[in-house]
Amino acid sequence: MSDALGQPGSGVVVTGAASGIGVATADALAAVGRPVAIWDRDGDGAARAAAEIHSRHGVATHPVALDVTVDEAVVDAVAPTVAELGSVGGIVHGAGIVAPALEGVIDVTTWDAVLGTHLRGYAFVVQALVDELRRARPGSAIVGIASIEGLIGHGAIPSYTAAKHGMIGLSRSLAHRLGPEGVRVNAVCPGYIETPMLAPAIGDAAARARLETSVPLGRLGEPADVAAVVRFLLSNEARYIHGAAVVVDGGVTATGGQ
Ligand code: NDP
Repeated sequence: MSDALGQPGSGVVVTGAASGIGVATADALAAVGRPVAIWDRDGDGAARAAAEIHSRHGVATHPVALDVTVDEAVVDAVAPTVAELGSVGGIVHGAGIVAPALEGVIDVTTWDAVLGTHLRGYAFVVQALVDELRRARPGSAIVGIASIEGLIGHGAIPSYTAAKHGMIGLSRSLAHRLGPEGVRVNAVCPGYIETPMLAPAIGDAAARARLETSVPLGRLGEPADVAAVVRFLLSNEARYIHGAAVVVDGGVTATGGQ
């Protein structure tokens, strides 16, 4: 493997990898030779992504249909994943949902679903895989896909905003705890990325234009824009980046947020 971004060559578990940023990340990792596991509750989408990535790049891929909020499902996925990939030295937690509060400011259904997927899911996916990351050292690393909503607040989506702030906090705590063991941990904070999740916000041309205008670089992000940064953070090229929240937003937060 001559591409430095492919080092270490250990396998990576990417949650939410049937769609959007997750599938772009799995594809980017596979392109530099890293085996990838596609963990997603969309089982058909996961199987499709794994087959396509394998045929494009020839690396081992392993789809698992699972809900990251179900602890037993996550634990049960570990052994077959390690068997298929050979090792797991990287985690990307990209599984996510966004939902506006249905009533009032906070509603319990939305809160539990959103916090469960993003924050609790992140914690328990790491918990389930951390021994594998220890075994795969040196070079093991974790990336949590947070958001610019982890840095600024959005009134329409309090649970999402809280979850994303929490993911950055958890990443920092894990950095403190796992850094001395040689496992790096970072968060990535995407801005407006054109995926199925963003689709409702850019449904009509005027809404899309408004959003584009708010981005200093003048365009929405593509999943590959984020995937490139995640791949870098998982590589030895990023060996001294640890506990960071890396913003990938075309300049939105640097110029005052939304
Ligand atoms: P997508 O909706 O395209 O992809 C998210 C994937 O996660 C889907 O396949 C989804 O399945 C899956 N998923 C959702 N809940 C679970 C669960 N409980 N267990 C397993 N899989 C699950 O979204 P994006 O690619 O846009 O989002 C990826 C991450 O990036 C998310 O954390 C999101 O918050 C974050 N992000 C996205 C931004 C954007 O503008 N797009 C901006 C900032 C951050 P299903 O289709 O069934 O829901």
